[in-house]
Amino acid sequence: MLPTLILFSLAILCLLVWGLRQRVLIRRLLHPLHSQHGQNLRALASARSERDGLLNAFPDAFLIADAQGIIQHCNQAARKLLGPVSPTGRTVLEALGDARLAAPYLACRNTGEPSAAQILLPAEAAPARSQDPGSGESVWLVDASPVAQADAAPHIRILLRDLSAEHQLEQIRKDFVANASHELRTPITLVDGYLETFLEAPELLDDRPTALRFLGIMRKHTGRITRIIEDMLLISRIESGDASTLRMEDFELTECVQDIIDRLESLIRSQNATVVIQLHEPSVTLHGDRFYWTQILFNLIENALKQNPKPGLQVTIHSEARGGGLAVAVIDNGIGIPAADLPFIFKRFYRVEKHHSQNEIKGTGLGLSIVKRAIEAHGGRITCQSAPGVRTSFEITLPEQEV
Ligand code: ATP
Ligand code: MG
Repeated sequence: MLPTLILFSLAILCLLVWGLRQRVLIRRLLHPLHSQHGQNLRALASARSERDGLLNAFPDAFLIADAQGIIQHCNQAARKLLGPVSPTGRTVLEALGDARLAAPYLACRNTGEPSAAQILLPAEAAPARSQDPGSGESVWLVDASPVAQADAAPHIRILLRDLSAEHQLEQIRKDFVANASHELRTPITLVDGYLETFLEAPELLDDRPTALRFLGIMRKHTGRITRIIEDMLLISRIESGDASTLRMEDFELTECVQDIIDRLESLIRSQNATVVIQLHEPSVTLHGDRFYWTQILFNLIENALKQNPKPGLQVTIHSEARGGGLAVAVIDNGIGIPAADLPFIFKRFYRVEKHHSQNEIKGTGLGLSIVKRAIEAHGGRITCQSAPGVRTSFEITLPEQEV
């Protein structure tokens, strides 16, 4: 009995040892497969994160929809624009939120061909988190294109780019061309008319008072033409970098302002306005190019006056020492500038049109862009705050070394 037991135990021991060896062998055999699988997973994860990194670097919203129109993938810009709910897992129409934006995608899906369009949306239809919702209409480039899949129906890649800023600039340029040509044509036509009168009726030249009156009117209109052309030249001079050759000198702020007030005397009188100089010291010295400073303060004071033809206007030129530097403000109590227009008033050719008829108020919308560039050329900054009808203030701040 005992030898049988011993034999049986030995057999079990052998089996155990054999089993153990087999497991070790199997593990050794499978090990390369396991590590290969692990490497594959790591390579896949790294390729995915590289792809996501690349797509996230795109400023445009990027979406991939499957054949059923469900968004399978999107980049950060798309999540930011179309949020707060992530577009992934939603239909293209749900995610874009407006059938007009989805039109190129649908065309691409129906024809299998790429499709792109520029779409103009009213303010209320702009995608959830576009840059500046509520600031007016927005323009979008939507570009859809099929992406071939190895063993499935093609997916569709959608690209969404906000073109609103370019659109607005284009609009402003168009308005400028219309404004500038109108501004130039009106005085030229008038001068031409008077010259024609003299040529057709030379005897008028013998009527001295009439001739002088006509010449005076012609002079006024040529002055206007000169002003527009000077503004255009000045702005292109500042923008071409000539401002680096500013002729710096010390001059009295009061003297400069007084010169401007003298030049604007007839406008001040006709508007029945009051201009107050309120400086923190009897003598405030500015260090800068007097020519540019005259342009800056002339534009600001003239704007305050001409935008406010109603009597009772007060324009204040105020100065104070600030943080070692200087702050100079031109303040008025007139019609003001609506909050929605404030971000744009320093842009070239921009004019506020909603609150007063700009047809009656002359200007090309170049003044404030000249003001801003000239102040920046002096190392300063300009900001505007406006409570319409109460207080509108254009404030210039200059750093210490520039004073
Ligand atoms: P330009 O100065 O070239 O003759 P402009 O005066 O129309 O033309 P800007 O000086 O650039 O152009 O001013 C831009 C716009 O800002 C003006 O058309 C006006 O609508 C608005 N604006 C500027 N200053 C004032 C102000 N003090 N009060 C009300 N609106 C103002
Ligand atoms: Mg102006």
